[in-house]
Amino acid sequence: MQLTVLGCSAGIGGARRTTSLLLDKDILIDAGSGVGNLSLDEMACVDHVFLTHAHLDHSGFVPLLADAAAFLRDRPLLVHALDETIAALKAHMFNGVLWPDYTVKPSVDVPYVRFVRVDHGVPVQLGNRRILPLPVCHSIPAAGYCMDSGKASFAFSADTTHCDAFWDALNGIENLRYLMVEVTLRNADASIASGHMSARLLAKGLDRLKKNVELYITHLEPGKEDLVMDEVLKMCKSFSPVRMHQGQRFVF
Ligand SMILES: [Zn+2]
Ligand SMILES: [Zn+2]
Repeated sequence: MQLTVLGCSAGIGGARRTTSLLLDKDILIDAGSGVGNLSLDEMACVDHVFLTHAHLDHSGFVPLLADAAAFLRDRPLLVHALDETIAALKAHMFNGVLWPDYTVKPSVDVPYVRFVRVDHGVPVQLGNRRILPLPVCHSIPAAGYCMDSGKASFAFSADTTHCDAFWDALNGIENLRYLMVEVTLRNADASIASGHMSARLLAKGLDRLKKNVELYITHLEPGKEDLVMDEVLKMCKSFSPVRMHQGQRFVF
């Protein structure tokens, strides 16, 4: 299994791209602006998008992706997401106003997009790859994902504040090797109500983790990346956290 980071910023500006991970050639985890870096041929190879939640920095490129490579494809793009996320995208995105309703166009039988419901704790098996939705606590319903190649697992927190259930789920993943976790805010700016993590909240979560992992930090607030990361390096030193970068690749 090969995972390429297409985008890992919480916002845009300059070279920043928002969250999207390419798993092998055919699976995306989130479809933020990082998707725009793919060529049309690469977009045409994508059969599955697993969305963590509906916020635009994670879902905004789904409609554009569905359109861009459609002429190269003969099958729908499968968009896997929680019920609430699917409802939000149907109501506010593929509603015939903001974008055509590609769940029934160009034809009901072979639309450009088909939604597939996922549930926390229920894995999706795609060949020898297993994708498990993880519980997280964000300002709207959201899911993290754990990608298991059989040899090792890569877990991604999505957007979340501190969430006991997330850390407990990680403890249950036997072959967990990589953890990509969001830390958006400085300690001074963070509260549980923000739905995001700070260094202090990450340290609290790591206290609950009973695993050795390679720890990567994502979704840093644009313009404050260094300030947030400094706090993470100080408060979570024992895990040697590394800032995630666009273009970074993992093989596992
Ligand atoms: Zn986000
Ligand atoms: Zn969000």
